[in-house]
Amino acid sequence: MSQQYQQDQEFRDEQERAKQKNEASKYSTQDQSTPMAQNIQGQEGQQQFRQNQQFQQQYRQQGIDQKGIDEQRAKLLSQYQEQTIELPIKNQDSSLELPQAFKFEFSEIDKPIIPQYQDFAQSKQQILEHRLYRRVQDASLADACAWVFTSPTTVQKYFYLHPGLAAHDVRIRVMFSGISRSDSFAARGLWGPIPYPLCAGEEIVGEIIAIGSSVTKFKVGDKVLYGPFRYSCGTCIYCLESRTNLCPYTPRLVKSTYGVFWGGFSTHVQQPESHCFKIPNGLDLETAAPIMCAGVNAYKPLSIFAKKGDRVAIIGIGGVGHLAVQIASKMGMEVDIFCSSIEREKKDRFLGQFGANLVIHWDAEDITQFANKYDFIMNTVPGKLPIEQLEKFMNMLKPLGKFVIVGVPPLSERLSFNFKTVISKALEIVCMNAGGVKEVQEAIDFCARNGVRPECEFFSFEDFLTAFDRMENSHPLFRVVLRVDDFSKQFKR
Ligand SMILES: [Zn+2]
Repeated sequence: MSQQYQQDQEFRDEQERAKQKNEASKYSTQDQSTPMAQNIQGQEGQQQFRQNQQFQQQYRQQGIDQKGIDEQRAKLLSQYQEQTIELPIKNQDSSLELPQAFKFEFSEIDKPIIPQYQDFAQSKQQILEHRLYRRVQDASLADACAWVFTSPTTVQKYFYLHPGLAAHDVRIRVMFSGISRSDSFAARGLWGPIPYPLCAGEEIVGEIIAIGSSVTKFKVGDKVLYGPFRYSCGTCIYCLESRTNLCPYTPRLVKSTYGVFWGGFSTHVQQPESHCFKIPNGLDLETAAPIMCAGVNAYKPLSIFAKKGDRVAIIGIGGVGHLAVQIASKMGMEVDIFCSSIEREKKDRFLGQFGANLVIHWDAEDITQFANKYDFIMNTVPGKLPIEQLEKFMNMLKPLGKFVIVGVPPLSERLSFNFKTVISKALEIVCMNAGGVKEVQEAIDFCARNGVRPECEFFSFEDFLTAFDRMENSHPLFRVVLRVDDFSKQFKR
């Protein structure tokens, strides 16, 4: 029996035990750190309660007086008022279909897997008071604060209490949080209906501040990464092969951090340890977050479909593009970049720092000169490319070449091309997004070992609206990242 299989088996057994033991109390909305702790019942609840008491005591032993903390928090947070802020979509592509009158139906979830969730699903209405993340009007009493979308075009700052910490959950104080195009598509409903209020954010660096009673991989104080996926069934063939992102048995809104369970545009996230990753030596905390989505999207297709010595082309110079060039270069490939326009500064960095061989403007230059030159092409442009342009790119591939499309465009978009080039050269067209837990770990380790470093433009947590606008409407250098660290420290508990 292979070691991997044994590990998988143990993982499965453990999951099964946890499922049976924990089904009723999992994802409880009770929080042991609030007066609701009185309601905690059962051995597990008591254990969690004790753990939390120890946690509180720890702070006190460190010489931090709880009353002092409360007063300080009250003072710091009293200035914040919740209000709905309009965040219109500018420069809107006419092909985007924005749901105007949004009505959420849970019909696509045929198999709710947890009791509270089922209850939530059955209510079938737009709930602006989130059932798991209980809003508090007085910010000074809150455990956490999130920037939430309350509709495709409105945003609120939402102060709330943590839900109860399930046995396999870790509670993470967010330190850095990347903002990607995916956040925009998800939060604005362009990937299909989502439950509002929604807190997106799928590139997270943080510190673990509490662990559930059955957590084994992490301890309080660990610095960790969290990405777009949070849960998978753990028993199907895809999960057993660690391709957890492909699990077809986990409903979309439970599987990812774009659903019922909130992501990283918050001071805290609370998610299962199964999809949490330690930060290895060699990764800088400040800039590591974009590896979780952009980095994995760039790494995975290169590691599967390309090899050392290949000539590869990367289309797009954004978050994914700038990492794909670095990764391909470190893998020993000859890498060229294609873009519609590029500023001088960016061009110099691609050619120098990131290791690109050529930077080519597809609008200004005749790219037919690159016909049959590439073994592999990766398209990182999240929107639709014109068909003629796509065909020109496909024609740049050698016979048997691979054309990989990463990321998920809005649902309304369709992929179309002429079959002639694809068939006559027997090209492979692959669409992929993110990775399973094993692939994510590989991507993280590769970046740490090889000095692949996301380039980030930082914004404070308070400046979320400016940051989001920067990502959506201009060309940042290269990934917009929220610096949440200072703000999230105010919520010590
Ligand atoms: Zn599965």
